[in-house]
Amino acid sequence: MRSRPATEEKILRALSAADVLCDDCLADLAAVRPRQQANKRARALVLQGRVFREQGLCPRCRHARIVNRLPRPITPRLPLGSAVRKLDGRPWFTVERLREHGVIVRDLPGLGWVRASIGFWTSDDEIERLVENL
Ligand SMILES: [Zn+2]
Repeated sequence: MRSRPATEEKILRALSAADVLCDDCLADLAAVRPRQQANKRARALVLQGRVFREQGLCPRCRHARIVNRLPRPITPRLPLGSAVRKLDGRPWFTVERLREHGVIVRDLPGLGWVRASIGFWTSDDEIERLVENL
């Protein structure tokens, strides 16, 4: 029986090599069996902030479905270093402070991180408020 860390490592390696994969292709490339195990482990990695899952197009099988990818660095217009210095180490306070400014983010329990989901739906104003209020 495979251990969870080994399965998660195989998933992370497959995503590192392929960039974006649906669960079926991830199971194939990472050699994770049964296929449902790839879904289960990928969702566990999401909770750790190590994998993102979103609706998208799998470049391997070309099906529109939920795809997995490694986190990409955010490229704000302001230098990231200035935002990082303002973090107080208490993510739940950051979540509340941002909520007061109309920016919804979430605390990743046990990691001390705050996750902001940024995509095509995010306005420039929201990104500016996020960076200004970190
Ligand atoms: Zn696929």
